[in-house]
Amino acid sequence: MTTRTPIMAGNWKMNLNHLEAIAHVQKLAFALADKDYEAVEVAVLPPFTDLRSVQTLVDGDKLKIKYGAQDVSQHESGAYTGEISGSMLAKLKCSYVLAGHSERRQYHHETDDVVNAKVKAAFQNGLTPILCVGEELDVREAGNHVDHTLAQVEGGLKDVPAEQAETVVIAYEPVWAIGTGKVCGSDDAQEVCGAIRGKLAELYSRDVADKVRIQYGGSVKSGNVAEIMAKPDIDGALVGGASLDTDEFVKIVRFRD
Ligand code: PEP
Repeated sequence: MTTRTPIMAGNWKMNLNHLEAIAHVQKLAFALADKDYEAVEVAVLPPFTDLRSVQTLVDGDKLKIKYGAQDVSQHESGAYTGEISGSMLAKLKCSYVLAGHSERRQYHHETDDVVNAKVKAAFQNGLTPILCVGEELDVREAGNHVDHTLAQVEGGLKDVPAEQAETVVIAYEPVWAIGTGKVCGSDDAQEVCGAIRGKLAELYSRDVADKVRIQYGGSVKSGNVAEIMAKPDIDGALVGGASLDTDEFVKIVRFRD
């Protein structure tokens, strides 16, 4: 049986400038600087403009906190105004990048093909994509949430070889639970996360499926994280709003305490 290191990632969205980012990461590092924190991987996903400051802090103080970006261009370079390439993120020593967050799918019309190209751009540059998937409320109400989410997993990983796929992180984030305070019940989250693992076994192998870390995201807080993390196919959380509050995020990271 593969043991998967839990991963708690904070998606700051469009919050915290680079000075606020430094203060936040310093406080986080101080609160997590003991042996317990080794047991859980912690990552922050700040806006692009904060990444250089976060890198300097993490490098200078040898912090174990990982960091990454909230998006990556599917293009490598060139006339793509406003885009940031995977090689630029790699140069900043990012570990992770979100691909296909529902806010990108919704507001920037990212399709599964675009998300797939971003997943590949991440891998080509040595970054680990956090592939975000999940259904809208009407899809869940119609009972199609599992099929919908599995189609996004398949689309996002199209033509991605097994040796890369086994390192991906998948975040199951029901759209209706993001930023709304409505948490998906832990059994409902497990239903979809278990189905995602089953899909990975079908697309690749049981071995690959057992290695992939699957996060739940959607209104995760210190009060609900332990119940969610107790589920067998949930290996971490992608945390939005609550990751901006250092004390709250630390409590989420220390869900075992
Ligand atoms: C997210 O942005 O990925 C997220 C899960 O947000 P929140 O925790 O605020 O629902």
